[in-house]
Formats: sequence, structure tokens, C-alpha cells
Amino acid sequence: MFFDQDFEQLSTERPTGQQKDPEQVLHEVFGYETFRPLQGDIIREVVEGRDALVLMPTGGGKSLCYQVPALVRPGTAIVVSPLIALMQDQVAALRELGVRAAYLNSTMDFEQARATEYALTTGELDLLYCAPERLIQPRTIDLLHRVSISLFAIDEAHCVSQWGHDFRSDYLQLSMLAGQFPGIPRIALTATADERTRKEIAERLSLTGARHFVSGFDRPNIQYRISPKTNANKQLLSFINGEHEGDCGIVYCLSRNKVEATARMLADKGYNALPYHAGLSAEDRANHQERFLREDGIIIVATIAFGMGIDKPDVRFVAHLDLPKSLEAYYQETGRAGRDGKASTAWMVYGLQDVIKLRQMLEASQGTDHFKRIERQKLDAMLGLCEVTGCRRQVLLNYFGDQLEEPCGNCDTCQTPPETWDGTLAVQKALSCVYRTGQRFGVTYLIDVLRGSENERIIQSGHNQVSTYGIGTELSTNEWKSVFRQLVANGYLRADPEGYGALQLTEKCRPLLKGAESIQLRKDPVVKSESRGSKGRKPSGSEIRDQITDQAGWEALRACRKALAEQQGVPPYVIFHDATLFDMLERRPATLEELSEVNGVGAAKLEKYGEVFLETLASLN
Ligand code: ADP
Ligand code: ZN
Repeated sequence: MFFDQDFEQLSTERPTGQQKDPEQVLHEVFGYETFRPLQGDIIREVVEGRDALVLMPTGGGKSLCYQVPALVRPGTAIVVSPLIALMQDQVAALRELGVRAAYLNSTMDFEQARATEYALTTGELDLLYCAPERLIQPRTIDLLHRVSISLFAIDEAHCVSQWGHDFRSDYLQLSMLAGQFPGIPRIALTATADERTRKEIAERLSLTGARHFVSGFDRPNIQYRISPKTNANKQLLSFINGEHEGDCGIVYCLSRNKVEATARMLADKGYNALPYHAGLSAEDRANHQERFLREDGIIIVATIAFGMGIDKPDVRFVAHLDLPKSLEAYYQETGRAGRDGKASTAWMVYGLQDVIKLRQMLEASQGTDHFKRIERQKLDAMLGLCEVTGCRRQVLLNYFGDQLEEPCGNCDTCQTPPETWDGTLAVQKALSCVYRTGQRFGVTYLIDVLRGSENERIIQSGHNQVSTYGIGTELSTNEWKSVFRQLVANGYLRADPEGYGALQLTEKCRPLLKGAESIQLRKDPVVKSESRGSKGRKPSGSEIRDQITDQAGWEALRACRKALAEQQGVPPYVIFHDATLFDMLERRPATLEELSEVNGVGAAKLEKYGEVFLETLASLN
């Protein structure tokens, strides 16, 4: 069985006496050439016995920051991790590397737990992953006092923050580790924390003396793209068809129904798409997540219930069919793409209805005024990103307190700068139409009035008599929609929280109505330009595939990996990442020694899989 922790298979020899150095461990065990920025500093800090607080974006390489010290320092490293599935995957991946790792959590029966505890007490473990609720039990603490511990790593440390969305009360008790195990270094890691939360983490975990390591938030390999929604399904299909055929990805929707419908739609078109939401049985959820992790090319269609702890490195795209509530959520969800550092796409379509829906949900929600004000600001920032005409990455990073000096060149607004137009007159017409019809109508109706439609409702209500009737024939219905969307997004109009999307004027629009202010609007791209991928611009997501000249060789290596993965009951990327296979294909190693030079091939994998891959490579010529 996959997660069976049979210790017999573990090699227990470990050079004692002289301490290994971190670079050597990186090279020999993990098969990597160099540390990423900050990793080296963090590792030195912990190896030398000091505490550290690490903030790194998803995919930044946090795990190595405690895994390497765990192999350098004597004793067992205790890793606190809130997610059982993640823990199991990490342990499986470490064992593939020949590292003596195990976990303790509630999925194990008594016998299994005892075997693990025994391995711990006899010094046979380099790392022990432990669920927080398990760790804080007096029994576990007693046990830990009897063994030699190299360090404590507290993963997903933002779970101590009560303001965050992942609060776990067990995490609060982890502060006792400071008093119980003085002198043993502790490293706390998180991907989501602003400065306030970082302080809170340090205080609550008694890490006030720890050095902070904050790595930049930029994820340069992710391309950000946001377009106005015209026909969401069609847009999604043309995006996947054009740029991510056969890739693995996540599609986020707001509601369960939409998740189901979208998954069905994709499946009908021949994609391997699976739904994931809180309404499915636990078994189905686990099964779909499992398949997403294990198989190639699965698209998971999900509500935000999906994602925390998804550690899959080769997710090539994250698509949003609905607008997230905040930039924090957007950043976290899109951050699940491209952990392996390869080109990936964060793609989203959004429209006026999304804006209205979110604004209404917010206003109708239970919560103090203070809470709503904060939520409103967050939504405004999200909308700001959607409507911006400059570089999206600059806006995004700026929000998280990072500066990007130059426009990134890898977002849609950088690559195809949106045109703007002077919308002052159109906006005056639109706002005045809202006013003249009594601030009681939604956008469809307002556009009908502006365009002079003769529909019955208008005639009956006498709105064919108002001064704004028929004054807007110069713009199409879609163009008017774009105007209204931007007005709502930018806070000139708000959707009545109780009134079915009726639009109302806000204070902000006074100067515009009086003609004291002019306004530039974004020109939405014409619908047919949606299939941009085919028109000259290089599709981003298939970087690796694009570079592969030897398709047959690539397929053969993947088949070899797949067979091994099935044999071992692990996901293919646990055997080797795509990047490693790619490097293999490029270098064509003929000997084990040459193979060991390939990026991502460490000693244990060389020994286990070296021959098989060499045979596969040899058969190619
Ligand atoms: P995080 O936990 O910060 O989201 P991970 O620790 O899962 O990120 O690392 C993301 C990916 O980057 C993993 O596939 C990991 O193997 C790889 N990685 C980390 N450090 C290095 C490095 N120094 N060289 C090459 N690959 C690395
Ligand atoms: Zn940009």
C-alpha cells in the first residue's frame, strides 16, 4: 500500500561523526544544483541552531528550508503540518529520495502509530511529520522529551492567526514548544502573511527572537490574464484548446451547481474533468483529489474548498470563471499554478454580473460595519486589478508591499496594452439614465432605455418619455455593458443590496455628472480576439512541450515514469518532475554518472531508477 510505512525498506545507515554540509545534501539527496534565493541563508540560520520565520510564496521552496537542516543536524526533525494528505505526500516524496521520514496522524491505527514511535525512539528517523492536535498531546510531548530532536518546523504557520481564513486553535498551543524544548531551533513557514500577520505569528508562537526571511512575492513564471466575460464556456474551451491541451489545471467557480455544470461541459468535450466541492461525499472528494494528484492531464473544476495543501508542482493553469473576493484569495488560488517554476497561466473572465453578485453578497452578509468596510476595500482592490490598464503584476505585487520597477511583460495588459477611450459623455448619459429612471433598474433595462428600445416594460413605465431615452445608440449593448461594469467596478454606481441588481448612484459620481471631471474607460477587446493564442502570441503554458523536439523520446520517458509511479503507488512527479525528464532528454546521459548530473536526480533515485531510465534512453536511438 502506498502509505504503508514499512521501515524494513529504509536504509538505516547514516554517516555519523562528521556533519554533512547543506550544499552536499542539496546535491546528493535532492539532486539540485543550487539553493534558491534565501534558502541558503535560512538553512544556515537553522543549522546553526537559531529560530527563523519564513515567508515565501507558494512554490518558492519552503520545504527544503527545514528538510536540509533536518539532514544536516543530528536527531529527528519534527514537522508540524495541518493537512494529512499533504503530510502523506511529503513523506512519500522524501522516502523516494531515501530520506528516513514518517508521519503521525489520525489515519493510522494503533499498531502503525506504535511502529512509528518505536522508530523515533530508536533514532531511525530524520523527519517526523505530525498533525498539530497530535503533537500537543502530553503523551507525544513526553515521547519527544525522550529522543534527540534536531529542530521543529511549523508549516502553514498563518494557521495561528485568528484573522486569517485558516485558523486552527491547535496551532495556538504550539507556543509551548519554546518553553518545553529550549535550545532547539524552531522554523515557522507560511506563504500568506502580511506584516501584521507575521508579527502575530511571531508572538503567538513565541518566536519573537527569530529572524524574518521574507522572499519577494513575484511568481514570474505565472502569466496573468483577465478578460471580460462574453461566453464563459466558449472562452474557457478556446483557452484550454489553444494553449493547454493535455495539461493539468484547476478551474474555479463560485457555486456547486456551476462546478458540476462546468465539469460536465468539459467532460462532454473530451477532457478529463472532475468536480470538487463541499457537497460531494468525502469519498468522492478524496477520490477526485487523488486522481488529480496521480494522473496526468486531469482538470479539476472546484469551488474554493479545493486547494489548500495541493502540492502538485505541474499544474499548468488556474482558470477563474468567477471573481474571487479579494486579491489575497486570487493570489493564493492562482499561486497553485506552476510550482515547478515552468511557464503557467492564471486566466480569468469576469463580467458585470460578477461584480454585482459579489457586492450584493457582501452587503447582505452578517458582519459588523467595520468588517464590511474591510471586505469592500478588498473587493475594490480585486476589481482594480481587473480594470487596470497598466501591468497587472505591478498592481498585484504592490498590493502585497512588493515593488516591481518595470512592467513585467508577462501579463495580458503588458503584451496587449488595452486601448482607452474618453468615456466622459457616455458615462454622463449612463449615470443620468440611472437617475431619471429612479435608481430602481438593472443594467439590461438601463441599456434598453439608452438605446431606445421599444419593449413593453419601458413603454408601460413611461420611460420612453425620459430625457435619456434613446440617447445612446452610438454604443452597442456590449459596449454599454462594459461602461456599466467599469462604473460599478470603480464605485460610481452600486448595486442595491436588496433590489435585484438595481443600480444606484454613489457620492463619487457627482463631479462626473456635473461635467467637472472626465473619465477614461478601458476598451474591451472584441470577442473574436479571444483565440489570441493562435494569432502569433506564443502560448504560455506549453513551454516544455514547445521546446521538445523529440516527441517520441518525451513520450517514452513519460511512459517509463508512469509505469514506475504505478508500481510504487505514487504520483508521477514523485518519481521525477517534468523538468527532470526534459533535462534528461536534452542531455541524453548514457551512464549513471552522466545521469547524476541531470537536474533533480539525487543519489537515491539514481540508484532506484537510473538503470530503467538509461535503458529507455538507450532504446530511443
Ligand atoms: P512551497 O512549499 O514553498 O510551496 P516546495 O517546497 O513544494 O514549495 O517547492 C516547490 C518546488 O520547487 C518543489 O518541486 C521543489 O522540489 C522545487 N525546489 C525547491 N528548491 C529547489 C532548488 N533549490 N532547486 C531546484 N528545485 C527546487
Ligand atoms: Zn505586466
